[in-house]
Amino acid sequence: MTSHHRWHRPAVLATATLAALSLSSGIASAGPGGWVPSPGSDGAGDSYYPQDGNGGYDVADYNLKVDYAPDTHQLTGLQTISARATQSLSSFDLDLRGLTVDSVKVNGRTAQFSRTGDHELVIKPSFPLLRGLPFQAVVAYHGVPASIHDPALGANGWQFAKSGGAFAAGEPKSATTWYPVNDTPRDKATFHLAITVPDEWGVIANGRETGSRKTANGTTHQWVETTPVAPYMTTVAIDKWTFDRQKRKDGTPIVSAFAPGTPDSTKQAEARLPEILDFLESKFGRYPVDAAGGIFLAEPIGFSLETLSRPIYSGRAGNVDTIVHENAHQWYGDTVAVDHWKDVCLNECFASYATWLWDEAKNGVDLDAQYLDQVKRASTSFWNGKLYDMGPGNEFTYVYSKGPMALHALSKYMGQAAFDRVLKTWNTVHHNGNASMQEFQHYAEQVSHRDLQGFFDAWIYGNGKPAEQYLYPGDLKPAA
Ligand SMILES: [Zn+2]
Repeated sequence: MTSHHRWHRPAVLATATLAALSLSSGIASAGPGGWVPSPGSDGAGDSYYPQDGNGGYDVADYNLKVDYAPDTHQLTGLQTISARATQSLSSFDLDLRGLTVDSVKVNGRTAQFSRTGDHELVIKPSFPLLRGLPFQAVVAYHGVPASIHDPALGANGWQFAKSGGAFAAGEPKSATTWYPVNDTPRDKATFHLAITVPDEWGVIANGRETGSRKTANGTTHQWVETTPVAPYMTTVAIDKWTFDRQKRKDGTPIVSAFAPGTPDSTKQAEARLPEILDFLESKFGRYPVDAAGGIFLAEPIGFSLETLSRPIYSGRAGNVDTIVHENAHQWYGDTVAVDHWKDVCLNECFASYATWLWDEAKNGVDLDAQYLDQVKRASTSFWNGKLYDMGPGNEFTYVYSKGPMALHALSKYMGQAAFDRVLKTWNTVHHNGNASMQEFQHYAEQVSHRDLQGFFDAWIYGNGKPAEQYLYPGDLKPAA
């Protein structure tokens, strides 16, 4: 877990003086985390994507100003990053794919920079950054953004819509295609976006709308996400939207945007969002985000994604099941994010189980019967699918099918009351943080007062068909 605070603009002179003092007094320890300035790591150390994200600092806020021209695809950006050094830094990296960097300033002074690898922007401030102190980096850049090709999901990141609009969506990577960022889910930050587009275009992004104004190049639309957000959960989408605005009972704003041609059935499904959020709240605890809604694309991209406060839906994927799934992620995946990508069952197994719970409550589905039927029909390859440490590129293979079954079995094995309590309180334990599968197991053990190692080995960490005691716990009996 990382903590996030907002800081005042750093005092440049104080930083420089302290740097000089610390260097001359020789009190420092060397190496990462020490006081002697050294380069920050060029990766955040994920076991699957070690180069994504960076080390040595923690971002508190992104303040991004973007100008986008749909006819030329040209994007011009000015990113202001407020961060705090977690080690003394002689240099540090941001992540940015393609695009041309025009200038970088750190604490108000021009900084040297270079590009390495496929997404590293290496920044060398004119004075070292001292461990524990806040700093501010400003990056000016421009270019035509390009998406990242993912063999399983298709295009990720910045994508062009047939209408002439554009949108950003992708997992595990997306943000680096349109702004400089510390691209790891372990570094969440608040996100201020001001985007200027020609007047005839509309914009939707994360969080709350804070106004729009006419400028020389069109209209500037401002969106603010005050719930700390992992970079890949940020989005912006430009199209000729039809907006639908509602409020939750507590006043939380709901903004949904529909691309031209969105079927009425999708609009009717999204109109149920207040009911869906009330239902999810009854299972998972208080809605953890400051805003809600959805972005309904015309393009059939390969996935829908739980972008924070406002999931983005593939064209024609806007149905109640998918809306329940993506909004369940606001608890499981967004405000509690993965620690490593191998923990992704903490996102997908739970969001998938949310649709089981919805079906039980709203459609009268007998979950025990559904579970037993699926056990009966499951193939060897199904049982051999992994829910933990499944390997890069395989994160999303079994979590949707085997994942909800594992959770249903867990509810029987732990006992319903303890399971319900875990579902409802997990978000408060790790709110706005990150968590691993081991942490989830330990929390479930703590709440249920049971050793769950055998169950987790059988269903989560291992593969193969679980032994009878884990397959048919509680009152479950094999289907005839
Ligand atoms: Zn999902």
